[in-house]
Amino acid sequence: MVEEQLVDRGVKDLRIMEAMNRIPRHMFVHETFQHKAYGDFPLPIGDNQTISQPYIVAAMTEALNLKDTDRVLEIGTGSGYQTALLAELAGQVFTIERIRSLGLKAQSLLERLNYMNIVFKVFDGTYGWPDQAPFDVILITASTQEIPKMLVDQLGEGGRLVVPVGGLDKQSMTILTRENGRTTSQEIGYCKFVPLVGRYGWPEGTGPSRNSL
Ligand code: SAM
Repeated sequence: MVEEQLVDRGVKDLRIMEAMNRIPRHMFVHETFQHKAYGDFPLPIGDNQTISQPYIVAAMTEALNLKDTDRVLEIGTGSGYQTALLAELAGQVFTIERIRSLGLKAQSLLERLNYMNIVFKVFDGTYGWPDQAPFDVILITASTQEIPKMLVDQLGEGGRLVVPVGGLDKQSMTILTRENGRTTSQEIGYCKFVPLVGRYGWPEGTGPSRNSL
């Protein structure tokens, strides 16, 4: 998976590749899909949601430029696979999932895998986690038309926020950086994620379009 899907597409960070070699991705998908867990595509995880394609997970993580002391906020725990990667590379991870069954399942698996630096919450992540802010890094693994201001406000000085921004069918992977109190943004490519649903995201009931990550 790492050689063919990541190195060949230009992922360079060895720490990411080593961590993805360590994390048992097959444990994050339902047993029906375990034989496909290392394939070059997203897979369903139930509740109309997906575990993202390995390359996308690696590319987003590389864009975060993580340090091992970073405090990270992740919105969209999903299966917990990306959460595990963040926990391998950063100091502490705060992760929020809006769908209770997914959030609890991911928590139980990540605790069984002995990750001690993750704090879990089942809630609408568009509010962020104000009483734990500021964060060095914020990763939103669902798509939004506009980056919720509540989340931008929770990004600390020198912080990086990565999020797919756009309509339901196509988004630009966007990196927001805060330096000297100012935020600048950069787009690094197109993608197609399931929607960020909540108070400051898409309305309740918005579903993913076909083949979303
Ligand atoms: N990174 C995950 C993984 O490795 O399995 C996949 C995340 S999946 C593409 C997006 C997730 O965002 C879904 O589980 C979805 O329920 C969640 N989500 C959508 N809107 C949310 C919100 N407002 N707050 C928290 N989670 C949300």
